[in-house]
Amino acid sequence: METENPVKSLATRSMLESFDMKEQTTEYQKEKKDTNQKQLNGVVETSLQEQLSSSYRDILEGLGEDPTRAGLLKTPQRAAKALMFFTKGYRENMSGSKLDLLEILNDAIFDEDHDEMVIVKDIEMFSMCEHHMVPFMGKVSIGYLPNKRVLGLSKLARIVEVFSRRLQVQERLTKQIAVALTEAIQPAGVGVVIEATHMCMVMRGVQKINSKTVTSTMLGVFREDPKTREEFLSLIR
Ligand SMILES: [Zn+2]
Repeated sequence: METENPVKSLATRSMLESFDMKEQTTEYQKEKKDTNQKQLNGVVETSLQEQLSSSYRDILEGLGEDPTRAGLLKTPQRAAKALMFFTKGYRENMSGSKLDLLEILNDAIFDEDHDEMVIVKDIEMFSMCEHHMVPFMGKVSIGYLPNKRVLGLSKLARIVEVFSRRLQVQERLTKQIAVALTEAIQPAGVGVVIEATHMCMVMRGVQKINSKTVTSTMLGVFREDPKTREEFLSLIR
């Protein structure tokens, strides 16, 4: 019968302990890094807000307004905060570090032997046209055919949020959503349709109040197979 070598077992234990400590240190360092990043983000946010406020004060003066009158006193700050919200997709993240969409989606990717089409339709979308910096808003419908992996349903809305809360054109937004979903779960195919109203068309120029702009991106089997595409389009109708 072989007795346990005390030296060996000690060595193993101390290796295990140091490994454990290393794990803890890494965890601690990660937390510290996240806290530092959050503080840094806070500083960046505050200075961005001050910068935007000052620009909005100039805009008010440029319009011939008096930024010191009671009603407008806090308008620059409020407008700056609103603009930051409308463009939070540039800075948005969950952990406090710089946006990594895959990191955001990672915890909601599931292995699933489901091979039927998944569709979430009429996701509300608010964005800003990059040509006029006025809003465009509407609805996004997303469909995909899984290939061993599915994405938590709420994350589809999250993808829409991240890409719509920034200066956009509807065509690019549509494509970015489809590509992000493809990169996250490599499905057999993806279809994205956006129907939106653009304030730059409604409020100025031609004033086409009831006009809607529809854009679509079809990837994989949604592009190659007319039957799959038809099924998707009829289900979101
Ligand atoms: Zn526009």
